[in-house]
Amino acid sequence: MTKVAVVKTDSYDTHIVEQAMTELLDELGGISRFIQPGDRVLLKPNMLEGVDKDKAVTTHPEVLRAVIRQVKAAGGAAFVGDSPALGNIRKVAEITGIAEVCLQEKAELLAFEKSAVTYHSDGLFIKKFELAQELQQVDKVISLAKMKTHSLMGITGGVKNLFGFIVGPYKAQFHLRMQKQRDFAAMLADLNEAVKPVLHIIDGIVGMEGNGPRNGTPIKTGVLLAGTNGFAVDMVMANIMGFNAEKLPVSAWALSQKLAPKLTAIDIAGSAQATVVPYAPAKNLVALRAAIPYWLADLGQNQLTAKPVINDKCVGCGRCAAHCPPKTIVIAKGRAQLDLKNCIRCYCCQELCPHDAVDLKEGIWLKFVQRLTK
Ligand code: SF4
Ligand code: SF4
Repeated sequence: MTKVAVVKTDSYDTHIVEQAMTELLDELGGISRFIQPGDRVLLKPNMLEGVDKDKAVTTHPEVLRAVIRQVKAAGGAAFVGDSPALGNIRKVAEITGIAEVCLQEKAELLAFEKSAVTYHSDGLFIKKFELAQELQQVDKVISLAKMKTHSLMGITGGVKNLFGFIVGPYKAQFHLRMQKQRDFAAMLADLNEAVKPVLHIIDGIVGMEGNGPRNGTPIKTGVLLAGTNGFAVDMVMANIMGFNAEKLPVSAWALSQKLAPKLTAIDIAGSAQATVVPYAPAKNLVALRAAIPYWLADLGQNQLTAKPVINDKCVGCGRCAAHCPPKTIVIAKGRAQLDLKNCIRCYCCQELCPHDAVDLKEGIWLKFVQRLTK
């Protein structure tokens, strides 16, 4: 039976997190079940952007520290790597406190800058990825995600965290190639199977609700989660957040392809297994997807998705324009101007805006169908 451990942890105090991490991994049989002496282990935290750790955008450095210590205790060598959506990894690591922990715990920080082809012949949707070359230089991967809402996928947990293995500019290409939400979810599922982390660990001590994954609100949740099946771990996480876990895009795809058991068939263990802390959802189509068939949602994607709208907080910095995959944003008169005709609803602009200046607005059709399906 697929097992997911959830333990209670109310603080980022080093010793408390360390104890909780031991309790968490013991629920799964202990770290030595996953890491053997001599293993080179790549830890992949969520390092979306260099912002203060208390904003809950990135995996907390104390959770990273606890995992590095576990890996070392099992005789492995720990490496930490990512390709942040924004900025240089060293700068991101410095601001988030991750660099300091790497230095103190002697874990090398790796910047994912070059890709190598990774074949995934069993892929259901994608059989060849260009992934960070560091992946080929390690024996094991541990995904170390943050518990957050996500405008495109509903949530970002262990599986979505692996998108960081796609190096810098290639991320936009994936959005352009996989414009339908279900296609993007299927790609993420293949990515998870290609990277095959031995463990998915999620920092849900303080998560992010609302306008995630960058501009939401920190919410104290008091849990750490772990398991070997990333889809199952994410479903348990979504359930704690009060969402319809099986209907979220990645879970729905994983269930349809039998990559994960149903929520009721997951063995949930640990001191916080019954926790539920309702999160405000990211404002988009995800909730609706639970109620209407995929073919209809795909057909009317633009009418049935919230559209990005620039609000008064815009300072014209140009970040959204630089990262918009179809290049449908220009900066004019000191503000971002958006051409909705070519917008693919990837929400990269909303995700990456440093000023929370992109709102997601429900159109008339979306409101109509929402009312019908209530
Ligand atoms: S919307 Fe945000 S990212 Fe885009 S120009 Fe305005 S402030 Fe910058
Ligand atoms: S305008 Fe925003 S949502 Fe639309 S394609 Fe560009 S980045 Fe994606």
